[in-house]
Amino acid sequence: MSKTEEDWKAKLTSEQFHILREKGTEIPFTGKLLNNKETGKYTCAGCGTELFSSETKFDSHCGWPSFFEANKNVGHREDNGYGMNRIEVFCKKCNGHLGHVFDDGPQPTGKRYCINSLALGFQKEKLKILKLIINGFIFA
Ligand SMILES: [Zn+2]
Repeated sequence: MSKTEEDWKAKLTSEQFHILREKGTEIPFTGKLLNNKETGKYTCAGCGTELFSSETKFDSHCGWPSFFEANKNVGHREDNGYGMNRIEVFCKKCNGHLGHVFDDGPQPTGKRYCINSLALGFQKEKLKILKLIINGFIFA
């Protein structure tokens, strides 16, 4: 994807630009999606690519939306900024910064993807109610 920094500035809010393009971090416990418990897909706020599933979201109490697994669109690279040795995670499609991954997450992966809420979009699963109705008939 060949968007210029000017294109991104026009598309994103200033906070989103700071996180996705300048590797910023949002203030903990402020993100809209932090306590989102709905079923659906978490997407990249920059380009809309699907990144995480609600099935892998968990409550880490760290102040940012947390997932124990990422899909194949999430890239990993070493980040030695701020005197720390961390693994940065980013969107492979638009190269947007998402957050970091740590090794203190729950099983089955043991990973904690600590992601800025502002770097994410959310698409609610529309078929869930239908599935519940169908299951209700089958198991009634
Ligand atoms: Zn993206």
